[in-house]
Amino acid sequence: MPGEPWLLSEVTWKTVRATEYEVAVLPWGATEAHNFHLPYGTDNHEGAYVGREATRRAWDAGARVVVLPEISYGVNTGQLDIRLCINMNPSTQAAVLADVAHSLEGQGIRKLVILNGHGGNDFRQMIRELQPTCGVFICTINWWNCVDPKSYFDEPGDHAGELETSAMLHIRPDLVLPLSEAGDGMARTFKVAALREGWAWAPREWLRVTDDTGVGNPHAATAEKGARFLEAVAEKIAGFLVELAAADPGDIYQLPTTD
Ligand SMILES: [Zn+2]
Repeated sequence: MPGEPWLLSEVTWKTVRATEYEVAVLPWGATEAHNFHLPYGTDNHEGAYVGREATRRAWDAGARVVVLPEISYGVNTGQLDIRLCINMNPSTQAAVLADVAHSLEGQGIRKLVILNGHGGNDFRQMIRELQPTCGVFICTINWWNCVDPKSYFDEPGDHAGELETSAMLHIRPDLVLPLSEAGDGMARTFKVAALREGWAWAPREWLRVTDDTGVGNPHAATAEKGARFLEAVAEKIAGFLVELAAADPGDIYQLPTTD
């Protein structure tokens, strides 16, 4: 049987033709090594899962939202020396994003949310460039920082650490190797203070930073932590989607409120 109306990869045109969608959600991940214990598709599994959970909840609350199939390649210019890490340059991503957004524009879908699942992706400058030429209101969120992870994890970590490992233990435990096989995700920091403190920024050459490709210790990860965090994330994003679906892009600003 064809699937839910909010899940584009499983729905038929019979349903799509009869539905006035307000918001499209585009999960965007990456294909890259995640320490020794998580699969290369981790960011894609996570983004697709969060996209589905949030969109389903928003739909159930009455918002006409659809989640698009995820894009599985991210910016990995610092990982090209790791076998089968696949890089998609920002300029290519901008072209892909423009094609998706212009497709939606012609079909009357007025809002697009990029649900980012990879730290090397940053869609903000692409949106700045694209928005003046596109009638779709475009915005972006990172699923992993919509909710403060510090109240869910001892040490969330950046990449294949406790947060991501817990998430995958909930989403696809069948794809996670025993944590006894995981590296510690120990990462070197910059020697230059400003770069180390984060107020100066440069991309990292991954294999010079980490020996196991992880950044963040995964050993305290559990499926229960992942379930709790993902539940909170899906709820929060669903609330945003409901509000966005009801919003008028032509009337989206307000003066400060007193509450
Ligand atoms: Zn990841």
